[in-house]
Amino acid sequence: MSIEKTLSIIKPDAVSKNIIGKIITRFEDNGLYLVAGKLLHLSDDDAGGFYQEHKGKPFYEDLIKFMTSGPVFIQVLEGEDAITKNRELMGDTDPTRAIKGTIRADFANSIDANAVHGSDSQTSAIREIEYFFKAEEVLNK
Ligand code: ADP
Ligand code: MG
Repeated sequence: MSIEKTLSIIKPDAVSKNIIGKIITRFEDNGLYLVAGKLLHLSDDDAGGFYQEHKGKPFYEDLIKFMTSGPVFIQVLEGEDAITKNRELMGDTDPTRAIKGTIRADFANSIDANAVHGSDSQTSAIREIEYFFKAEEVLNK
């Protein structure tokens, strides 16, 4: 167990449903703390660079179209095992497979519009946090 930071994105579907607060409450109730956050409307280049690992996959074009369709709330979460804990709270990528009580089961509509992103490893957490935040924008508690 160690204190980690992870990148979380509240995707356009959830922002447009006005449930940013409900999703952040899930994190706060489970020991994850906000140490950075901002609302952004991503450009194609912003989203393409962020999702570079998925370039060439069948869902890539739709993913970029969706992630640029409206504002997103991008945040850095900190806490014990934050990377794994965030993934557990999010639930399966496909909301129909996600366990009840997870964010995607409770708030997402489809595998495309699935409410949240979360870093999947220590390496991606570091890359993704640096992608969206300058060091001085992230609180060091
Ligand atoms: P996760 O967001 O759970 O880490 P991935 O990294 O595999 O999932 O995929 C990134 C995003 O691409 C997913 O959150 C989802 O919005 C979209 N996606 C993944 N797989 C599919 C798929 N088979 N069909 C449509 N969209 C997908
Ligand atoms: Mg992923």
